[in-house]
Amino acid sequence: LHNQVQELKGNIRVFCRVRPVLGKESDEAAKISFPDTDKDSKEVTIQGPEQKTALGKVTATSNAFSFDRVFGPSSQNAEVFEEISQLVQSALDGYNVCIFCYGQTGSGKTHTMSTPIDGMIPRAVQQIYATAKDLEEKGWKYTMEGSFVEVYNENLNDLLGNANEFDKKKHEIRHDMQKMKTTITDITTVLLDSPEKVESILERASTNRSVAATKANERSSRSHSVFILKLIGENSITGERSEGTLNLVDLAGSERLGHSQATGERLKETQNINKSLSCLGDVIGALGQGKEGGHIPYRNSKLTYLLQFSLGGNSKTLMFVMISPLQAHLGETLTSLKFATKVHNT
Ligand code: ADP
Ligand code: MG
Repeated sequence: LHNQVQELKGNIRVFCRVRPVLGKESDEAAKISFPDTDKDSKEVTIQGPEQKTALGKVTATSNAFSFDRVFGPSSQNAEVFEEISQLVQSALDGYNVCIFCYGQTGSGKTHTMSTPIDGMIPRAVQQIYATAKDLEEKGWKYTMEGSFVEVYNENLNDLLGNANEFDKKKHEIRHDMQKMKTTITDITTVLLDSPEKVESILERASTNRSVAATKANERSSRSHSVFILKLIGENSITGERSEGTLNLVDLAGSERLGHSQATGERLKETQNINKSLSCLGDVIGALGQGKEGGHIPYRNSKLTYLLQFSLGGNSKTLMFVMISPLQAHLGETLTSLKFATKVHNT
């Protein structure tokens, strides 16, 4: 087809992005070595935590991590998008693509994914729209459909649905094993016949979430959101047909909440987040070890079950591990980087 897909080791790539210190955070930055000027950096080094040697001397341990790409704190969304644009493009070629943002709350997941106009979601839609337009002269006609769902406490909610019904309607995942296709019952699908429509989608999703947030606050950090873009192409000259899906996933905050601190609803949320994030790691791990065809534990969480056909087989996966530059977040930063390293090494 029309796209040279970058073939890299395996089908899973991991990028790391360090967010900048925000104005109000002043001098709390951890000692993280950022590859700020190097455009092709693949390493990030964290100094700390400090340890006392046998002689009582205080030294900071140095932890180096390497990924497929590391973006420093002054990186812009435009530059980040450039690195994923080929992957986005491959959805037009009929691939199923998953892009995840993983990291603790406040590390920059939503900034990267959903910022209006500038984030990966609007940029991806813009690019796909422009490419589809270019391909018209080669006979291709594409239909783009978007939906946006939330996975909260192992339930699916429609982020584009009616606010009054949000959280009340039951949605089920149906897999067609022959056609390798997934549908969700009763979900809103928006025909993206102009690229501007994506902005109203983001706005609607954000309104729905804030409505839900009055019941359980900080909703967005306690749930996963999945933007699903279906791309169906037909070529009137060659008769070819292609069907691809692009899933852009803003994961729930990965921070460990001590079970002792959490009770009731909060405890249930925490357990569900822990379970689904570790299940995601397990599924990626099992796929990476070439267990395709063998047992992949998709069914262990709603998120992996939903993404079943976009994670194995003919699909491409990218994970962003987002980290905070603050000293106070050092522990979570190291935990996130270790998780991402495991994913990277599968
Ligand atoms: P998360 O979704 O992981 O909880 P956010 O994306 O909401 O985190 O980011 C937390 C704060 O940091 C927000 O105020 C956001 O605007 C800011 N921020 C995150 N990443 C960047 C960045 N690369 N450049 C500038 N500001 C950022
Ligand atoms: Mg967020």
